[in-house]
This record gives sequence, C-alpha cells and structure tokens, in this order.
Amino acid sequence: MRLPLHIQILIALVAGTLIGVLVNPGDVELPDREFESKIALSPAEDGILVSVEEDGIDSLEKVYTRDAFEAAFPSLAGAYQGAKVWVTEPLSVSNRRVHIVEDGKTIAIRYARSYRDEDVVSTTKVKKAADLSDAWQGFYNEHGGGAGRRITIAAKFVGDLFLRLLKMVTIPLIVTSLVTGVAGLGNTSRLGSMFGKTMTYYIATSLLAITTGLIMVNIVQPGVGAELPGSGEAMVPEGEQSLGSIFVGLVDNMIPPNPIQSLANAEFLSIITFSILVGVFIIRTGGKSGEALRTFFNAAFDVMMNLTLAVIRLAPIGVLGFMIFATSTQGLEIFKTLGWYMLAVFLALVVHACVILPLILKFVAKRSPIEYAKAMSPALMTAFSTASSNGTLPLTLNSVEQRAGVSNRVSSFVLPLGATINMDGTALYEAVAVLFIAQATPGFAVTLDQQIIVALTALLASIGAAGIPHAGLVMMAIVLQAVGLPLEAQGIIIAVDRVLDMCRTTVNVWSDSCGCAVLNRFEPAE
Ligand code: ASP
Repeated sequence: MRLPLHIQILIALVAGTLIGVLVNPGDVELPDREFESKIALSPAEDGILVSVEEDGIDSLEKVYTRDAFEAAFPSLAGAYQGAKVWVTEPLSVSNRRVHIVEDGKTIAIRYARSYRDEDVVSTTKVKKAADLSDAWQGFYNEHGGGAGRRITIAAKFVGDLFLRLLKMVTIPLIVTSLVTGVAGLGNTSRLGSMFGKTMTYYIATSLLAITTGLIMVNIVQPGVGAELPGSGEAMVPEGEQSLGSIFVGLVDNMIPPNPIQSLANAEFLSIITFSILVGVFIIRTGGKSGEALRTFFNAAFDVMMNLTLAVIRLAPIGVLGFMIFATSTQGLEIFKTLGWYMLAVFLALVVHACVILPLILKFVAKRSPIEYAKAMSPALMTAFSTASSNGTLPLTLNSVEQRAGVSNRVSSFVLPLGATINMDGTALYEAVAVLFIAQATPGFAVTLDQQIIVALTALLASIGAAGIPHAGLVMMAIVLQAVGLPLEAQGIIIAVDRVLDMCRTTVNVWSDSCGCAVLNRFEPAE
C-alpha cells in the first residue's frame, strides 16, 4: 500500500529534520586553545594605540586611554609609557572559541575571545576554503569538512534538482492549462456579456485577497530577522526602476512580438496573454480546425498535468533534502520561522474567506453567506482534502446548481474558467510567500513599489496556475523573478506547502462559488 503524498511529505519533513540535527556539520566548535599574541604599543594623540595580532589570525587596532588600557591589559600596565616594541606574550584573557559554520555555499569562521557572544572578534565568510587566509586555511583543513558537510551538500543538491523539475513543468503547464480552460468554454456567444463581468469579479476578488495577504505579512512580519537557507543573494536589478516604468513594462510585455521567444525566455506575462488569445481564437475559428486544436490542447494538458503530478510525487525527496540542509545549517530555529509564515498565510486566508467574500455575497449577490456556505460545503470539504480545484470541479458544479440554485448557464461558464483563472487563495499565498522570502533575504529592501510589483505578478501567477495540488508552488517562480529574488529560497517552504495548499484551494473554490452567486444575480437565466 502506498502512503498518501501528504503523509510521505510529513515523514520526509520529520526524517530530514532528525538527520539534519544529527549530522549538523554546520557548527564545528574547536577546543579552547591558547593563542600567541603579539602586542605592539605606540603613543597616539589621546592615549595609546594598541595593535594585537594573534597567531597571524586576529588583529586589533584600538586607541586606549590610560585607565582603559590598564583595565584591559593589567599584565602590561607598566608598558603604557612610550612602549614601541612588539611584546610577545599571551593576553590576559585565555579562552578562545572558533566556530566553523558551513552551509554548502559559504564557509564562515567565527572567532571569539571568550564564551561571551559580544566577544566575537571576527567573522570571516568566504565561498571556498581556498579564499581563506593561510592561517584560517590551516584551521579549516584540520577541523572543517567531514561526512556531515558532505551530507549537507548532497542534500542541497537533491533539493535543488527537485526545484529544477518544478521549473521545467511551469511553462508547458501554464500554456496548456490556460488554452484548454478558455477553449473549453464552448460557443462564442457565451463569451459575450458574461465574460466581462466574470473577469471583473475574478480580478477584483483576487486583488482584494492579495491586499489582505500583503497587510497580514506586513503585520506579522514572519521573515524579518529569519535566515532562509538559499536566500543568499538577491539579484536586484541594476538602478532604481520607477513604478511607472515597471507598469509600462508590464503592459508592454502583454503583447509579445515573438511568442516563441517569450516561451523560451519564460516571459510569463506574454505567455499568459498569448495562451488566452489562442484559447479565444480556437473558439472563434471553430469547425474542424478549432476542434483539432482543442483536442490537441486537451491532450497536451492531460499529459502535462500527469507529468506535473509525477514531479510533485517526488516532493518527499525534495523536502527531505531541504530539511536536512535547513536544520543542519540552522538548527531547529527554522521551525519558528516557518510557523510564523504559516500563521500569516492562514490568518490572511481566513480574513478573505470569512469576511471579504461573505460581504460580497451579502451586499452584491444578496445571498445569505451562511446558507450559501452550507450549500457549498461538499465542494469546500473536497477542495480541502484534495487540494485541487480541477479535481473538485464536478462537485462544485453540482453544489452550485443543485444545492445553491444557480443557473447552469452561469455555473457552466464561471466555474470551469474560474478553476483555472480565479484563484484568490493562491494569489494571496504567492504574495505572502514572496514577501516572506523578501523579508528574510539580507539586503533586500521591501519597498512599497516592490510590494505593488509582487501584487501584480501574484495576480498573474494565480491566473496562470493550474487547479492541481502544489501548482501555486510551481508558479512562484514568476513572482520571485519579477522582484529579483533567488528561486532557491523557495526550497524550505515546500516542506509546509501541502497544508497551506489545502487551505488556499478551499478559498479558491469558495471564491469561484461566490462568483456564481454574483453572476447569477446579474445574468439571470432567460
Ligand atoms: N492547489 C491549488 C488549486 O488547485 C492551486 C495552488 O497550488 O495554489 O486550486
């Protein structure tokens, strides 16, 4: 018997944590040792300049007043007056601590005068051992490395492979899912008046969801002060870009001069518009040609969906890799960070589903939110357990028509398209997750402009996401790319994606259902 995927992921999470904590090669603490100190004293304007060099490793240059000098170096008190020679004797403080911290990307050597944290004298960070100074290289060769380090590096490699696979399926999945979603709408007359209203509802609610997410992530600030493995370098574009120019750029990108080039360059916005257009024109062309392409894209979507699901089935291996990597380099601290992140996503989803959408139901659709939620409960519970809007679609259709009394004309238009395009939960999640990563990335300034770009691209990512489990994770590349954050930073949040996916899919289906109620009011059955 095969265990369900989410159980496998949970097992991988626990196993990865245990292995990571066990191998923990990250922190090699060297035994106390005495360092030979060379101290040079020379008169300075307002005191005495002390230069200390320890084993060629540490150096200190500081001007001391007489009192401070005598307190710091009691054994040298007599040497205050005019000393000019190197003194070779150990300093009065004798404990030394050296830590070698490695995460597969950098080697950091932390050197402290005593056991107190404030006594850290220097931290040297380099990319490879060869970049260390000779003295530190000796240390590193003697104490660094080892099996633990090799496991950490291998674990990161495996996790990264999984991310590459996710990336590999992103574009084919967006294209086939959008073309089939739009082309599946049937005849063009239905594209008419309902299309505009439906799109307005989709975009308005997604933007409301994103705004709620952004407000929540700014309140909870789950990423501030956290360190995510892999979030090392932000690839912030050169120079300041004004919001206006970015917006013009976005609009510009909507019309690709060469769609094939856009596909090759992963220009998501271009790909999304072109795919929607292809879908619309498959319907408009109709006849044999339309039918042929519709069949082709349906088949392609089937295959791509299966491929994506196969990749997702490897998630436990990816999670295992990332958990080993995360806990071996950062210890259990990572769970605190992830906990805050999950809380931010969860609270924002609750606000959107239980406050904003019910208000729309009540005042725009003129329906009782509680009654409507009760009618939709079979679909909502299925969405929660399957984490797939597409998988839930038959039940959503059934509940909306049979239990909530919405006309088939509305539901057969709003729901299939909504399952692909209208994903409030996913949009909100993209915004919170990317800002969380941004907050945790050193040197990345989370400005208002950046947040607006995140909002716009999160909307697009949710439009492009297919209604299958973890699709939101696959789409995150779009948003990360837009603000110049590294894809690797996504690694660790995969571990907790399933739970969040279940919650956001429920919100996705809930928003589609509320859309039906709204449209039903304005487009009553003839
Ligand atoms: N699983 C979600 C859905 O089917 C998409 C996502 O991963 O956000 O609606």
